[in-house]
Amino acid sequence: MTMTAEPAAETAPAMRIRTSAGAPRADEPIQPPEPSAVVRVSSLYKSYGATSVLRGVDLSIHAGSLTAVLGPSGSGKTTLLRLLAGFERADRGMIELGGRIVDDARSAMPPEKRRIGYVPQDGALFPHLTVRANVGFGLGRSDRRSGRIEELLTLTDLDGMADRYPHQLSGGQQQRVALARALAPKPDLVLLDEPFSALDAALRASVRAEVLSILRATGCTAILVTHDQDEALSMADRIAVLRDGLVIQHGTAQELYDTPADPQLACFLGEANLVSATLTPNGCDAGALGLLPLRARSSCDGAATALIRPEQLAIEVCGDGDKTNRHDGCVSGRVERCEYYGHDMMLTVRPQADPAEESSPCLPDTLLARLPASTPLAVGTAVTVTVRGPVTTWESSRSAAAA
Ligand code: ADP
Repeated sequence: MTMTAEPAAETAPAMRIRTSAGAPRADEPIQPPEPSAVVRVSSLYKSYGATSVLRGVDLSIHAGSLTAVLGPSGSGKTTLLRLLAGFERADRGMIELGGRIVDDARSAMPPEKRRIGYVPQDGALFPHLTVRANVGFGLGRSDRRSGRIEELLTLTDLDGMADRYPHQLSGGQQQRVALARALAPKPDLVLLDEPFSALDAALRASVRAEVLSILRATGCTAILVTHDQDEALSMADRIAVLRDGLVIQHGTAQELYDTPADPQLACFLGEANLVSATLTPNGCDAGALGLLPLRARSSCDGAATALIRPEQLAIEVCGDGDKTNRHDGCVSGRVERCEYYGHDMMLTVRPQADPAEESSPCLPDTLLARLPASTPLAVGTAVTVTVRGPVTTWESSRSAAAA
């Protein structure tokens, strides 16, 4: 397994700013135009009694994007969504939607005026209304007659089900009706509150893909609340991670996976090897695992924690005493566990100190390595482990604070 992550791309070449006369000024760089923000949340606070839920949330969401708000249960995701929708009022701070301030903690625009579509967890369809009537529920009479309902039924692949009632639909079809109903009035923003959590695992992946393609087809701006990392990583253009009432990081899936803000987030987003290391001017000294390149230049030196994703470990099976493949940064070990998933497998390897070396550099207790599909390795198999690609590091003081 030799997948190697590339270092982050260099900053795009600077462009010039235009003067009032329209000509670029030679001495100043031009910034690329900012995509327009549909949602701007500034210093947002919300408490329920003594429970402080949001403690200064800042978030900006651009037109046409799908943003996942990701966080563990109880981190305040639904509260943030309910504030955006207008179902709750902010204690402090400001919410701006499409350039209009809708809540500044002194006054708030009512939900029905915010031009927001809402898809709740369980779809919350009206059980006594047909699919057609559910989809058209938020439309005025003229819009209902304009063909908008049929347009939505086609978009969500529900043409043949217009006269059915919710109990005659599968869970995935019900969620498509809920989405069609939310999209029907052409909202500026669609909020999806854990819309797949009630679906069984087999259905979830296909409904996610359907919902994503419907959202893409309409080009609408959407916020998806989820506690499921895989869902956020696989679906969203950008992910805002909520923890302890704050957005601790906001970026693309790759930015978050490769360069998470702290070790706790690294582990929340996927399996992670957190290895004690030392930052040096030449890179990250990970002891027996070698001198590893850094994803981002670091001005610090001294004790650090390095993130090595399981995909970054190359594994070679070797016979006992086989030293032909050994080189700097290549560590011997034995397979302690092999979880076989068919498409890939996860090995737990226990590194072993090299008896030939007088003082072996410190080794982690175990290392997780993800390998592509092949024959499962037996427990006890002798292997060598080598790190591929650059690593993200945190100074030890920061990693301790986040732990
Ligand atoms: P999440 O969606 O991330 O699971 P929530 O926003 O639902 O989190 O809840 C965050 C915290 O706020 C939880 O501790 C929850 O118990 C509390 N909470 C949410 N709504 C209310 C409410 N209406 N009254 C009192 N506490 C609430």
